[in-house]
Amino acid sequence: MKAEINPNKIVVLSGAGISAESGLSTFRASDGVWQSHAWQELASPEGWRKNPQAVLAFYNERRRQAWEAQPNPAHLALAALQDAYEVVIITQNVDNLHERAGSKQVLHVHGELAYARGQSAQAKRYLIGGAPISLGQLCEDGTQLRPDIVWFGEEVQYYAEAQAHIASAAKVLVVGTSLAVFPIAGLVKHARYHAQKILVALDEMEKPWGYTFMRGKAGEIVPALAQTWLAQAGA
Ligand code: NAD
Repeated sequence: MKAEINPNKIVVLSGAGISAESGLSTFRASDGVWQSHAWQELASPEGWRKNPQAVLAFYNERRRQAWEAQPNPAHLALAALQDAYEVVIITQNVDNLHERAGSKQVLHVHGELAYARGQSAQAKRYLIGGAPISLGQLCEDGTQLRPDIVWFGEEVQYYAEAQAHIASAAKVLVVGTSLAVFPIAGLVKHARYHAQKILVALDEMEKPWGYTFMRGKAGEIVPALAQTWLAQAGA
């Protein structure tokens, strides 16, 4: 049986584009980090086995940049919506800008730069914040610490939970994601027929069925949308 729609619930699916105006490079932009690095070398278990030093250096740099960045008006507007709504953010981002903006319910389906872990799937996670991981730093199971990032070919986190949230939302906002990475891109289709469904992106893209496409910068569109939604709630 499908979950009931909660009229007071907003679910946001965010991607790299929401952090672009904070100065963090996106995945596929022409200046994107992945254009200058082969992803097979940096974001895969094979790359890690071949050259852990290079992988650690890459993520240490991503973490350093993310910790220097500040939440932008889009992150802040989503946090402000919590004044009147239950807001759940499902993010593909590995930065912590949603949390630093004040969002309380954030599911990091592709992992988090803020954590390190050992090699096995059951290995303990360690909160490292903005600190780098060095070769030789071990988990208590004796294995080398790696970033707690979901690499290509690895299983995403919180999928069932994310699906249940999106299926019970009255409003679904998809922002800053090209919807090119599966299975997370498939979550959009779990939004309900009667839910208000909005897609915000800078580039033209194929919009999923039932979504209204608003093309432009997240830092401009999301605060305006949040104002409208807060006014609707009488806040
Ligand atoms: P993507 O790079 O594939 O797509 C980015 C999308 O954001 C595009 O649709 C683009 O039009 C849009 N965009 C760019 N700038 C925007 C802006 N200012 N306002 C609104 N939209 C904007 O990103 P993705 O779909 O998230 O790619 C998936 C992977 O990239 C994720 O797995 C994620 O882990 C990884 N990633 C994360 C970060 C981060 O944590 N900040 C950064 C780079 C990559």
